[in-house]
Amino acid sequence: MDRILNYIEGKLLEPASGKFLENFNPAMGAPYSTLPDSDSSDVTKAVDAAHSAFPAWSAMPLSKRTSILLKIADLIDRDLDKLALAESIDQGKPLKLAKSVDIPRASANMRFYATASMHMNSESHLMEGEAINYTTRTPIGVAGCISPWNLPLYLFTWKIAPALAAGCTVVAKPSELTPMTAFMFSKLCIEAGLPAGVLNIVHGLGNKVGQAIVEHRGVSAISFTGGTVTGKTIAATAAPMFKKLSLELGGKNPNLIFADCDFENAVSTSIQSSFSNQGEICLCGSRILVERGIYEKFVNEFVKRTKELTVGDPLEEKTRVGALVSEGHMNKVLSYIDLAKQEGGEVLCGGKRVTLLGRCANGYFVEPTVIVGLDQQCRTNQEEIFGPVVTIMPFDTEEEAVAYANSNAYGLSATIWTDNLKRAHRVAHQVKSGIIWVNCWLLRDLRTPFGGMKQSGVGREGGWEALRFFTEAKNICIRI
Ligand code: NDP
Repeated sequence: MDRILNYIEGKLLEPASGKFLENFNPAMGAPYSTLPDSDSSDVTKAVDAAHSAFPAWSAMPLSKRTSILLKIADLIDRDLDKLALAESIDQGKPLKLAKSVDIPRASANMRFYATASMHMNSESHLMEGEAINYTTRTPIGVAGCISPWNLPLYLFTWKIAPALAAGCTVVAKPSELTPMTAFMFSKLCIEAGLPAGVLNIVHGLGNKVGQAIVEHRGVSAISFTGGTVTGKTIAATAAPMFKKLSLELGGKNPNLIFADCDFENAVSTSIQSSFSNQGEICLCGSRILVERGIYEKFVNEFVKRTKELTVGDPLEEKTRVGALVSEGHMNKVLSYIDLAKQEGGEVLCGGKRVTLLGRCANGYFVEPTVIVGLDQQCRTNQEEIFGPVVTIMPFDTEEEAVAYANSNAYGLSATIWTDNLKRAHRVAHQVKSGIIWVNCWLLRDLRTPFGGMKQSGVGREGGWEALRFFTEAKNICIRI
């Protein structure tokens, strides 16, 4: 079995406890590697290493810092096939998706922030005849970056790239369920010549390692992506210490489909936004709201295409829906399908675990599932399922569609489908979500602010927002 190790002070190390956890291949339902069961002593070692590395890294000429980060991006590209295969095995996602989305985006994250830091400028404000203000932004210190299992290397690099580019040193924790590509990434950092201690990766359980990072007084900022419940625990721990916090949390995203839309585009993209990565993307649309005039036509076509999706071995080319990340998560998703039935929902397709033949016979597969007949307030429509399960509901007016979209505690993203430009603007302004896509989905420009409203999070990532997050602003006012 492969053995994953921590990356602390530039070295690959066993955890202090000497204990390891099993790491599962979800498509086979079997362990295939081990990862460190680290604890607070490993975190302390990592924080100490990050503090020692901070003065030199933060003072390093920008061009040198940039070239190291660009080298890491190049190495990710070089190892695209290896990393994609590892991601697919570790997470359960189709290999095709890991190759075309996850790993290319990881190198794009590194490259984007490596170069962005060279263009960051400071503001100055002239008070006519009186004074000039100028604002400096210096790296905040040691940053804690905690990422989830759904897009492992993609979201891991989405945090550490801006932190490192801003001049911070980092203690990071990938999800215990998907640690493999972060381990491979640590080897690439060594190969690229990243100085020891600049990035430290501590593997292990969230409530041990994650909690220890959040609690450590030597960590000045926490950038977290994960579930809303975990986000609340982190906020409660970090807030009394006045740590800077960026929280990217869950979603229950609506797709608003108006009768005047490009029907083919709306259906085919909604299939993607529902079932890509087994529905395990925080931006997946899980509540599909369709104007009554095309409701029946839409439901029929959507169900037909859902049935055509191939659930299968993630390593096979034809597979569109792979395995869910863990047995626990699969059971959670199945329990929501049961709940939907209890709440009066009608399952039009899917609804069950899939048992495959051959090497994936014990894998955690669930049929893509479409449910109708539920009201907006039921738990199925209010809580995040984070799996291949969508509900479809009709609406009669634009006002009703907006009210339905907003009748949820989350506010991460929404898609709007209409060919009426005025309506597109009007509805986009009224829907309370941090990210709105009109006639598209998951079209990402890394310069744009990324994050959610309400229970979907605090703060924004992306563009300058993330670079600024990892800095401390200081205003200097000089009387003229
Ligand atoms: P979790 O909240 O369970 O875990 C996220 C990370 O936090 C993991 O590394 C986890 O470790 C760690 N963690 C768990 N408990 C603590 C703690 N007490 N202190 C510090 N860290 C802790 O989320 P999932 O991994 O289950 O990810 C799915 C969730 O992430 C969904 O709700 C999804 O919507 C959300 N998400 C949000 C995105 C956004 O941009 N808004 C993007 C992607 C996902 P471990 O795994 O070892 O428990």
